[in-house]
Amino acid sequence: DGGDWVINGNKMFITNGTVCDFMIVYCLTNPEEEARHKRFSLILVEADRPGVTRSKIRGKMGIRATDTAAITFEDVRVPQENLVGIEGRGFYHLMHFFDCTRTMVAAQGVGLAQGALDKTVRYVRERHVFGKPLAVNQGVQFQLAEMATRVELARNLAYKAAWQADRGQLDPAVSAMAKDYAGETAVWVADKAVQLHGGYGYIDEYDVQRFYRDAKILEIYEGAKEAEKLTIARRLL
Ligand SMILES: Cc1cc2nc3c(=O)[nH]c(=O)nc-3n(C[C@H](O)[C@H](O)[C@H](O)COP(=O)(O)OP(=O)(O)OC[C@H]3O[C@@H](n4cnc5c(N)ncnc54)[C@H](O)[C@@H]3O)c2cc1C
Repeated sequence: DGGDWVINGNKMFITNGTVCDFMIVYCLTNPEEEARHKRFSLILVEADRPGVTRSKIRGKMGIRATDTAAITFEDVRVPQENLVGIEGRGFYHLMHFFDCTRTMVAAQGVGLAQGALDKTVRYVRERHVFGKPLAVNQGVQFQLAEMATRVELARNLAYKAAWQADRGQLDPAVSAMAKDYAGETAVWVADKAVQLHGGYGYIDEYDVQRFYRDAKILEIYEGAKEAEKLTIARRLL
C-alpha cells in the first residue's frame, strides 16, 4: 500500500514472542503468482509496531523456561525496505532456515537424551532393591545399553548434519534425519529414564520427569516428525 507493506493475520506458538524486539514474518505477498511456492515473502516487523498484539501462552507441558506466544497482526504497516531477502522467495528462504535449525533441534535432543541417561546411570547404581543396586540386574543393563546406543547414533547424525552445514554443504535429508531421530531418541530415552527411576521418577524430587516433559516438543516443533520423514522420503523417490 503506497511504500508500505500492510500485514494482517495471526500465528500461534512463537518462541520468545512476548520478549522479542522484532520478528521475521512469513507473508503472502504475491497471491496471483501461479506457482504456490513463489507467493510468499519474509518481512521484518518491529514488535512495537501499532497493530501487533502478543499474548503469552501458558500451561505448556514442558520447556517452561522458554517463552511461547500467540501473535496477531491487524493492519500492521511496515516500510518496503523491511523485506528480508527477495520478494516471492520467502518459501525458499524459510526452507533454508529450517535446513539449519533442524540440526540445532537435533542437538537439543542429543543433550536431553544424554542428560536423562546420565541421571539414570547414577540412580540405578545408588538405588538398592532387596539389598542390591538396581544396576546389577541384566534387564536394567540391557536398557542402559540400548539407551546409550541410541544416544550415540543420534549424536553422530547431529554431528554429520552440523559438519555439512559448517562446510556449506547442507543436506536437507540428513538434517531431517538428525532432527527426526534425535527427537525420537529423546522421547524414548526419557521414557526409559522415568521407568528406571520407578515411583521417584514420577515426582519432582527427581528432575527426570522434567526431561520426559521437555522431550516431546522435539517431535513437534521446527517441523513435526512426519514433516521430517517427508523430507527424507523426497530424497529417496
Ligand atoms: C512450544 C512451541 C514452540 C513453538 N515455536 C514456534 C516458533 O518459534 N515459530 C513457529 O513458526 N512455530 C513454532 N511452533 C509451532 C510448531 O512448529 C507447530 O506446532 C508444528 O510445526 C506443528 O504444526 P501444527 O501445530 O499446526 O500441527 P498440525 O499441522 O495441525 O498437525 C498436527 C499433527 O498432525 C500430524 N501431521 C500434520 N501434517 C501431516 C502430514 N502431512 N502427514 C502426516 N502427519 C501429519 C503431525 O503429527 C502433527 O503434529 C511452536 C510450537 C510449540 C508447541
